[in-house]
Amino acid sequence: MELDVLVVGGGLAGSRAALAIAQKNPQHRIGLMAKTHPIRSHSVAAQGGIAAALQNLDPADNWLAHAYDTIKGSDYLADQDAVELLTRSAPEVIIDLEHLGVLFSRFEDGRIAQRPFGGHTHGRACYAADKTGHAILHELVVNLQRLGVRLFSEWYALELIYEDGEVKGITAFEIESGKIEVFCARSVLLATGGYGRVYRTTSNDFASNGDGLHLATKAGLPLQDMEFVQFHPTGLHPAGVLISEAVRGEGAYLINDLGERFMGHYANSSQRMELSPRDITSRHIEEEILAGRGIGGQNFVYLDVRHLGAEKIRSRIPFAREEGLRFLGIDCIEAPLPVRPTVHYSMGGIPTNTDTQVLDATLNPVPGLFAAGECACVSVHGANRLGANSLLECVVYGRRAGEIIAARLGDRQMPKLNTHTYELRAEQRLQNLLRSQGTRRIADLRQELQETMTQTCGIFRNARSLTQGLNRLQCLHDEYQQNLHLDDRNLTFNMELVQALELRSLLTVAMAIASSALERCESRGAHSRSDFPERDDSQYLRHTLVYVQQNLWRTASRPVNLCLQSLDRDRFSPKERVY
Ligand SMILES: Cc1cc2nc3c(=O)[nH]c(=O)nc-3n(C[C@H](O)[C@H](O)[C@H](O)COP(=O)(O)OP(=O)(O)OC[C@H]3O[C@@H](n4cnc5c(N)ncnc54)[C@H](O)[C@@H]3O)c2cc1C
Repeated sequence: MELDVLVVGGGLAGSRAALAIAQKNPQHRIGLMAKTHPIRSHSVAAQGGIAAALQNLDPADNWLAHAYDTIKGSDYLADQDAVELLTRSAPEVIIDLEHLGVLFSRFEDGRIAQRPFGGHTHGRACYAADKTGHAILHELVVNLQRLGVRLFSEWYALELIYEDGEVKGITAFEIESGKIEVFCARSVLLATGGYGRVYRTTSNDFASNGDGLHLATKAGLPLQDMEFVQFHPTGLHPAGVLISEAVRGEGAYLINDLGERFMGHYANSSQRMELSPRDITSRHIEEEILAGRGIGGQNFVYLDVRHLGAEKIRSRIPFAREEGLRFLGIDCIEAPLPVRPTVHYSMGGIPTNTDTQVLDATLNPVPGLFAAGECACVSVHGANRLGANSLLECVVYGRRAGEIIAARLGDRQMPKLNTHTYELRAEQRLQNLLRSQGTRRIADLRQELQETMTQTCGIFRNARSLTQGLNRLQCLHDEYQQNLHLDDRNLTFNMELVQALELRSLLTVAMAIASSALERCESRGAHSRSDFPERDDSQYLRHTLVYVQQNLWRTASRPVNLCLQSLDRDRFSPKERVY
């Protein structure tokens, strides 16, 4: 199969990129591959909003304020040139989405509605009720089909073809038939999303296993800032599904067992209260629970919206109400919802420059390979992402990836490739898995992996827990290689086989997170080391890189870009982060 461009991932980032390429030149042969149907990508579950300084709610807002909030929220680890690009383009990409047909919620006067969000000093989250991702993704996919982009739905990408110093394509198999195919492409974009499934409790869907990160690692490429895993403060207890930040944006309270709004007790959150950034809010919930002030001494607190009144709850946050009713039979109009932090977002990922080109271990761009969205780390979120900034990143950098790929396609020849070698290799790999006759089941190993990560590399971690975690992960890795058991030996629609491949990705990602977390001896953003509770700019104001060399995990680092693109003298220098 020969294509000009292959996009792997049908979420917001992949779809926006494919659309940009097709808009630029409908003659290009563009393929969009996803292991789910594109509109079942996790983006569809995004609820609360997408940030942009549109000034509809707050005329005092502007891109620079948005940039400052993002950089401060990142605990100064974001690359400031990348943040400028993000926040400056934001208003325009929102208007662009609306022209594509996205139905945003509106104010009475017809302008796009906006609301406050954690860590943002101005109300700038645009939304479609609390189904924002759904509204955007559906419109993008409809447009892709209109422009003739070829969809390869329910195809699983197995290997990145990286030889002679360039990326030449992807090996993949069709889940329905088991057919293996080598996709030869002049450019490949990875947009495979996050990896929340590495942990026991997560808001992410079943497909979020970090496959793209695994593909990059296998090709010898580094991952960046993997220690920064975002815990969203309000996962519905015990399922872990997300109660959107929009609920706190609309004015919800967090309450402990003593009936107190406890965020007011902590110095770094007493001003913004429930609208403090996610890392801080999650830590304080965890601290309340550890101090025995969870509800009834248990491991959750309450999220209370009763004071908002039935009408506002029904119109502004209908989905959150529906979730309470569906999962717990609790109507939040009448009773508070039990919540606790849930793994939500991966700040780290495949390092790219602001042109979305993937960087190798020497920090040079890899010809033919691009990445965007949650699997990438262009670093706009640094050590902690602000709510509503991820959908924005997907749309801004997805579109940018598409535009850059389209503009540079002329420079790239169709690569020459011995497809047979790759087909054989994929075939052997799948057959080896199908023949696994050990004693450990996938679900069993996966659960142990998730428990290990939750216990040793959770909201708080330290050298002891991380070393224990890494040892345990190594054993699980060995068990996977030597002692896995699969029941289904068929190639057609074998979801057990897919899960075995996904477990491999989870193992890689878990090792990368724990290795990076051990390396960073400070606390910054979402990374809280109980043995190093302070931020240490003198040593760690740097991005962590982690990669595999001769079967060993190695770490390195690279500097953070502390200059805005346009205002290099008036940059935001690191200060203490207080809200
Ligand atoms: C419940 C929830 C609510 C959220 N709410 C918000 C919000 O309100 N605002 C905000 O800014 N952010 C929000 N986020 C975060 C945001 O939704 C995600 O970061 C973003 O949508 C990720 O988009 P993506 O395109 O990078 O990846 P995804 O949407 O996750 O898509 C990944 C794609 O890759 C494909 N794929 C993966 N592996 C393979 C493989 N091996 N082979 C082939 N295809 C593969 C999948 O099939 C899928 O199509 C939320 C996240 C969650 C989980």
